[in-house]
Amino acid sequence: MAETRTPVEVVARAARATDLADLDAGVADCFACPRLVDWREEVARTKRAAFRDQEYWGRPVPGLGDPAARIAILGLAPAAHGGNRTGRIFTGDRSGDVLFAALHRAGLANQPTSVAADDGLALRETRIFAAVRCAPPDNKPTPGERDTCAPWLHREVELIRPTLRVVVALGAFAWAAWWPALRAGYGVPPPSPRPSFGHGAHWSGTAGPELLGCYHVSQQNTFTGRLTPEMLDDVFARAKLLAGVD
Ligand code: SF4
Repeated sequence: MAETRTPVEVVARAARATDLADLDAGVADCFACPRLVDWREEVARTKRAAFRDQEYWGRPVPGLGDPAARIAILGLAPAAHGGNRTGRIFTGDRSGDVLFAALHRAGLANQPTSVAADDGLALRETRIFAAVRCAPPDNKPTPGERDTCAPWLHREVELIRPTLRVVVALGAFAWAAWWPALRAGYGVPPPSPRPSFGHGAHWSGTAGPELLGCYHVSQQNTFTGRLTPEMLDDVFARAKLLAGVD
């Protein structure tokens, strides 16, 4: 499979992805953002001391979960020593610990932990993906990197559109990334003015899935108590209700 090396090639490769497996393969072979490619590879080379014996993935991280999902969880980007290490989104880091524990409590994951790509995790009615597919320095992609990566997200939304009913945006970055995805996937222009992000924010339009806002499951939020397990439970209970998931 040819590597994707420019923003124009990302557009073309994402557009011709025939299914999620094909899309995932295209994502994993993407080299279109020079700064992020350098960073993901440097992190994979230098490693964190606790993981020095492990082989890091060091590539873009595809989406995860049910191809017929009714609920999608949209994050910011993979973590340098989480998804960028294990090759699976929200896997092997503290954010994932919090997220998958909540998904398990909600009956949307078969186990409460996500530690490695081969750990047996399975999601029910749920797909998880990120607005940017490579780990960025300081968890901050540039606007240009966000826009370059957007076609992967937009095509993924198109591919799960037949079943998708609710999107949970983790944080303001993901919330903002949803509007172009809505336009690309459903032909719906973003509302003007755009609704503000907030925990518990809810938006629904004439077409497309309902949108729920949730504080990001970052350590910054969970360690400080800004986001508690109860708050996450409330969001996923609401998502299930809106999506018609038992
Ligand atoms: S961030 Fe997205 S577009 Fe940029 S290199 Fe990674 S996968 Fe490709």
